[in-house]
Amino acid sequence: MSFGEIIGNNRNIAILQRVVSSGRIAHAYLFIGPEGVGKKKSAEAFIAALFCGNNDACGNCSSCRKLAAGSHPDLHLLVPDGQFIKIDQVRELQRELAYRPYEAPRKACIIDGADKLNQSSGNALLKTLEEPPGNALMILLATTADSVLPTIRSRCQQLLFSGIPTEEIEEFLMGRGTPAETAQVAASLADGSITKGLALCNVDIMAQRSAIISAACGLRRQEIANLFTLGEMFDKDREKADQAMELLASFWRDLLLLRSGSGQMVNRDLLTMLQEEAARRSERTILENIEQLGRTRGAIKRNANVRLALDVLSMKLAT
Ligand SMILES: [Zn+2]
Repeated sequence: MSFGEIIGNNRNIAILQRVVSSGRIAHAYLFIGPEGVGKKKSAEAFIAALFCGNNDACGNCSSCRKLAAGSHPDLHLLVPDGQFIKIDQVRELQRELAYRPYEAPRKACIIDGADKLNQSSGNALLKTLEEPPGNALMILLATTADSVLPTIRSRCQQLLFSGIPTEEIEEFLMGRGTPAETAQVAASLADGSITKGLALCNVDIMAQRSAIISAACGLRRQEIANLFTLGEMFDKDREKADQAMELLASFWRDLLLLRSGSGQMVNRDLLTMLQEEAARRSERTILENIEQLGRTRGAIKRNANVRLALDVLSMKLAT
């Protein structure tokens, strides 16, 4: 991973590059920001540049190749074991960091889940954060500042990461060969997260998008049989059902936007369908439908019976 490959958060990347070129490296950094905005990739690029000995990872040397393969003996990754990072994991990391580096200028670790340290594992880590053995570099990742123990936070240099602009995600997805329409919708639904945008493109849910939306728009109270279409499509797959709800919510939000005269719709490629649906629903119905979609999504996330939740939703969406 090189700095050049990271999308968004340019200011942080510039800071890290300056740190590398100046050689004034702190013991511990804390990268804070939502999921999927490049915190871990930035940490990897930072470490790769330091290990490589260039201002940015060259990608060709033995160090860069081992890092890319995830097999560098001097980089240690710590992730929660279950809900928390446990004290034994921290002790194991401390033992690893105490060894002399095999080939890199220093040992390094990424703690992916600084917000998952509990009181005992957090306390165990404190001393190491102040004075890592052998000049080891520690990079902690967390989604919010509040979720990290204040004693940990105060011992780290903090960098705040923010969501990636939709256009940049769209461009990135298209650069990977995603068709423009899919990239546009996935980027709009990605909430600033490259990871989420990629996940949306990788699942076949996007290929089913217009079928899902057509099915929801085609629901009629008089036609009992088709009221179960959505339930039949997704009753076996909770995650897909959740993604389908997100797609539907984006379409329904577009209906509102269209009625208010805005052209900023996500599903612009389905304009004819949007116009027809916006014309035959009142704004109030659209708002109620959006609320119902949110409730259904919440129920699905909370482990409700997917089939039942979708059948109830279908009855509410039916016109
Ligand atoms: Zn290299």
